[in-house]
Amino acid sequence: MKKPIKAFKAEMNLPKLIEQFGDDEKCRARLTELRWPKGVTCPRCESKSISRVIERDQYDCNKCRYQFSTASGTIFHDTHLPLSKWFLAIYLMTESKKGMSALQMKRTLAICYDTAWYLCHRIRAAMREINSELLRGIVEVDETYVGGKTRGMGRGYRGNKAIAIGAVQRQGKIRLQVIPNVTKATLHKFIHDNTAPDTEAIYTDEMPAYWGIDDAKHLDAYLDELEHRFNNRKNEYIFRDTLTKLVNAAKLPYAELTKAA
Ligand SMILES: [Zn+2]
Repeated sequence: MKKPIKAFKAEMNLPKLIEQFGDDEKCRARLTELRWPKGVTCPRCESKSISRVIERDQYDCNKCRYQFSTASGTIFHDTHLPLSKWFLAIYLMTESKKGMSALQMKRTLAICYDTAWYLCHRIRAAMREINSELLRGIVEVDETYVGGKTRGMGRGYRGNKAIAIGAVQRQGKIRLQVIPNVTKATLHKFIHDNTAPDTEAIYTDEMPAYWGIDDAKHLDAYLDELEHRFNNRKNEYIFRDTLTKLVNAAKLPYAELTKAA
């Protein structure tokens, strides 16, 4: 008989999330801690001599007179979405086993589709950075075709499909990416970009399937999210780490995001 797998204790769960971050004031306090763990610092001149303007939820820099808030210069800035919804969205995306589509996000958070789409992509963009070190040791590499079926074409038809490639380090992390073709040069570049120089790369067909992807649109962003989730499957602080990345990530304007997607 197999031993039961020990239940994994995550730092965050839904009742805790609602209790701890049910309103924007609590969310803002947490973001402030994560953005400035050593105390509030002026984003313009880095002075630590700051006055808090409680009634406007703002800070005044005593040195350069710059006025800012916790969200200033972060992706939480100029969003009309309450912070508590951001927190919920981050929780849902880091917890969801199969990923979260913009449509699901729209329904779950009762927000409009554009906002949901924007939110999903911004969270994914920040997730991308959490595991950036190179793979090493024994790495298995494989590619797969992603996309819908085309009527009248045989199973082997690949014309409308995108190609996703993955590299997984044994007992370790994974890297997923969209590639334009499967030429030797492309594969070598992918391996070169994602593995340490002393890696022994093995090609195999044993890669885990790319769970539930049927839409080649925005595949890159989707793979980023899967990669992030896989790499953090044992990280009990995944919620906090994602939040920290988000509050410290550079702003990504909507136009740029749509262009890149
Ligand atoms: Zn200043």
